[in-house]
Amino acid sequence: MNMSIFLAYLIWSFVLGSIAGSFANVVMYRVPRKESVFLTRSHCPVCKKTLKWRDLIPLVSYVFLQGKCRNCEVGIPFRYFLVELIFGVSFFFGFLVLVSYGFI
Ligand SMILES: [Zn+2]
Repeated sequence: MNMSIFLAYLIWSFVLGSIAGSFANVVMYRVPRKESVFLTRSHCPVCKKTLKWRDLIPLVSYVFLQGKCRNCEVGIPFRYFLVELIFGVSFFFGFLVLVSYGFI
């Protein structure tokens, strides 16, 4: 595998991991509340406003919004950012492990 493709896969694995982390956040929030994971659009639990696509980009939206709802400015718990980051880093190193063992 040449270096530029390797780096692209490495970045992609981080992005894919952060997307998986975002989905994990949805599951962890909604399942205990018996809400649908797939049928309901993401919304602020305080002001109930449906989130726009630009508010749903893992990690980036949290930083851009400075951890606050765009509409009501209530704080978004840091754990959502942290879960997305941990998943991203895990996928990043998971890809490295797969490469180092020759699976890819
Ligand atoms: Zn809100």
